[in-house]
Amino acid sequence: MSPEPRRRPAPSAVLAPRPAESEARPAEPAPEARPARPLEKKPFLLDFFPLETPDQTRLHRFYERLREGRVSTTRCLRDGELHWPPRTACPRCRSEELEWVDLPETGHVYAFSAVLAGAPLGMETEVPFAVGLVDLDGVPLRVFGRIEGRPWNSLRVGEPVRFESYDIGDGRMFYRFRTTG
Ligand SMILES: [Zn+2]
Repeated sequence: MSPEPRRRPAPSAVLAPRPAESEARPAEPAPEARPARPLEKKPFLLDFFPLETPDQTRLHRFYERLREGRVSTTRCLRDGELHWPPRTACPRCRSEELEWVDLPETGHVYAFSAVLAGAPLGMETEVPFAVGLVDLDGVPLRVFGRIEGRPWNSLRVGEPVRFESYDIGDGRMFYRFRTTG
């Protein structure tokens, strides 16, 4: 028995605007017949967060410190270069002799944007949210991250923020910023 030919949509079906749901899927009940469902929390489609344990990453100390509420990074013992993100070797001198240092927890928003639509599965309930670059106080580092607290449409460049560590829900830790003004 020969396999069924692969079905391909006609080009017109690809290019044409999507028809109303009742036309496209006659087998499904009409939207009004379905029970009303609140916007539910769905599983994440993608995994944005890194692996964190010592057998998975040489940067595990960063995550261990996040669990203690500390934000840290690496500094080169040879030339003093402060890195962000944390490194396993110094990008300036290539030395692997690095030390872990705590970073200032406060900073100011350098620039930001907002995610208003198109969030991946699992993040729909979080839209809209702000992301941005934060200049940390007292060190020459500009750090990217999510910005919580003040809504995106009243956020301002220069806004004071504070580092915050949090459990992403499966035991792994990550960081974000929260407005303090
Ligand atoms: Zn170095």
